[in-house]
Amino acid sequence: MSKTIDLRSDTVTRPTPGMLEAMMRASVGDDVFHEDETIKALEAECASLFGMEGGLFCPSGTMCNQIAIKAHTRPMDEVICDHLSHIYYYETGGYAFNSGCSIKLIQGDRGRVTAEQVKASIQPDNDWLPISRLVVLENTCNKGGGTCYDYDEIERIGDVCHEYGLALHLDGARIFNALVATDTSAKVLHGKFDSISVCLSKGLGSPIGSVLLGDTSFIKYARKIRKAFGGGMRQVGYLGAAGLYALEHHVDRLKDDHNKARRIQSMLAEQDYIDSVSPVSTNIVLADVTTAYSVQSVLNHWKDKGLLAVPFGPQTIRLVTHLDVAEDDMFLLEEIFNSTHK
Ligand SMILES: *Cc1c(COP(=O)(O)O)cnc(C)c1O
Repeated sequence: MSKTIDLRSDTVTRPTPGMLEAMMRASVGDDVFHEDETIKALEAECASLFGMEGGLFCPSGTMCNQIAIKAHTRPMDEVICDHLSHIYYYETGGYAFNSGCSIKLIQGDRGRVTAEQVKASIQPDNDWLPISRLVVLENTCNKGGGTCYDYDEIERIGDVCHEYGLALHLDGARIFNALVATDTSAKVLHGKFDSISVCLSKGLGSPIGSVLLGDTSFIKYARKIRKAFGGGMRQVGYLGAAGLYALEHHVDRLKDDHNKARRIQSMLAEQDYIDSVSPVSTNIVLADVTTAYSVQSVLNHWKDKGLLAVPFGPQTIRLVTHLDVAEDDMFLLEEIFNSTHK
């Protein structure tokens, strides 16, 4: 058995032949000089999809989030987010390093916070406390297991932010997973956020790229920060073409990923070495192994059989479905799960 099924992340996909062809055909120019028509088209398309005035293509979702934090805050400000947030966990403490901010963590429900929790996290105005300035939501929430926000809750959180003069940013690395899973148009988010970050290189299958969205003056300032962060790019339309292709061809098919994730959930739930599997709403499966097993022993066994997944806590394993998981792989997966033993 030489085939490897790689469920470590939805970032491991390779461009499809159709995507590569679109990239080859891209018309490009120097984007630092505002001369790349393909990247401009991608930025405009994302902006209009999410009801924003402008967009900014960045090499990574992390850079989008970090630019957003930098643009919305000043040093000594505080960022409010759930304790499972990507901006807290997986961005090397960039909020402090890049922006000189502190962070206020909320114990939400699998990565989702409520308007009441946000309100309770706002610092009173006095000399010895940081200034609450920015709220960051993550939809879907990676570390929460691909959980989706309730859109009414987002609205209520927006009201709190408005009342207290806080900016609201959406880390939408997997926003298309959330929209597809809830069968909702991106219109539901129009007017709800000051900025949104959208990844093209996760479930959408582009090799590189994320887009930061906001109003015209925000994007103008964000562009300056991107340059300072070393993210000004030249003939980047080759990557823009991949993004445009992904938006056209790879959004609706996210349903397949969600369906496969649910099938993996039920396969795993039957295994005696699995204690519990979190409810699956999108393409992420979190499974807890029983205390009789270690995460590493299960992962090693799977790896020997040709399945890759990642540790995600002391007893937790994460598996993520994506574009490169074939229907045939599902049978192989079941065999591997069933053959796992001490
Ligand atoms: C992947 C991810 C990002 C961005 O990651 P990059 O690897 O920097 O592109 C941001 N937020 C969430 C929730 C993510 O899952």
